[in-house]
Amino acid sequence: MAGSGGHIGELYCLNEIDAETTKCMTSDAQQLRGNYFSHQLCSYCGCIQIHYDPADALKVHYGQDYDLADVVQNNLVVQQGVAQTKKQQLNTRLFGAIDRLTEVPGRVLEIACGRGSLISAISAAFPNCECVGIDPSPDLPASTTYLTFIQDFFDAQALPSGKYDLVICHGFLNRSPTLVELKKIHSLMNSHGLLSVEIMVLEDSPHTPRVWDHSHMFTESVFCQWLAMTGFTVIDTNSNGTTVHLLAQLSEKSKQSFPITGELIDSTRKIFATQLKYWQEVFSSFEDIARHNDDYLIFGAGMFSGIILGSVGTEKFSAVVDEVCRGTEFFKLPVIDLQEAAERGGTVLVCSRSHYLPVILEKIETIGLKAIVLGR
Ligand SMILES: [Zn+2]
Repeated sequence: MAGSGGHIGELYCLNEIDAETTKCMTSDAQQLRGNYFSHQLCSYCGCIQIHYDPADALKVHYGQDYDLADVVQNNLVVQQGVAQTKKQQLNTRLFGAIDRLTEVPGRVLEIACGRGSLISAISAAFPNCECVGIDPSPDLPASTTYLTFIQDFFDAQALPSGKYDLVICHGFLNRSPTLVELKKIHSLMNSHGLLSVEIMVLEDSPHTPRVWDHSHMFTESVFCQWLAMTGFTVIDTNSNGTTVHLLAQLSEKSKQSFPITGELIDSTRKIFATQLKYWQEVFSSFEDIARHNDDYLIFGAGMFSGIILGSVGTEKFSAVVDEVCRGTEFFKLPVIDLQEAAERGGTVLVCSRSHYLPVILEKIETIGLKAIVLGR
């Protein structure tokens, strides 16, 4: 069996890892334990899926170790010089879309609602609306009359019966069989229903080959075809640099059908290969650097630094430089701000998304320290 739809498709192995000997990191900077993991590209649906051995490795992680803290899940997004958290951006757009609806939504479902802050805000804004949030987290708030929380993975059986006018699905579809979930979501919605999805797309996710909890990755083009095939029309799209937020309405199913074109499969394969090569370069440049006995700092208490520190260990580093997280620890290293970094001195290693690099390098230059970009 292969592919997001549980159909038979030809699988190309893009990357495989002996997870017993190689540390496999997750997006919340933890180690995912297992025997053997691989990235497989399905030639039928165009999805890159991670295959886990043992098969429940990811489920075990979500049930026990997954970090819902805002500092991990809610990164700052800087657009046109204005810094907002990712969630502020998403919520503003979503509330704008609700305001444009001709009718106030009567029933709203949020899948993977985390600690329930968004669905609680919707419930507060629309007091007569019946709201449901579902999430496997043990940190769910208590239910009230109009707001029900269900501790579970997304399961239609677990939900109150009836159709929904608005379904919110932020940060979930890269973690579950995407196409299967889209079909399930479609079946739960009213004919005029609105879907709000936030996804990571392969082309904006250079970490893909090194992060093992995003079990389903795909390009934006492939995802939009899946939406059309499932019966959704995209009405609005916004990229915030790390994720894409799409608003879609129920529509007729598109005439397009599977398989996804060879062109899209090829482009998916090429993007992944480029990313794999990028990380090889990151680690080989680190090996060169590690031969010197300088004092090193690493920039950013985020996913890229997490991949590096999780893989190579912390011996070479004295601290992590991060303005937002200063005063905390990251991989047991102290997190310091630029001021303290300037006082400490040392060379700052930088590994980040290419469009963030100019700003980061400028900051380091301002405090008079030397920066080395890994993987470039
Ligand atoms: Zn497939």
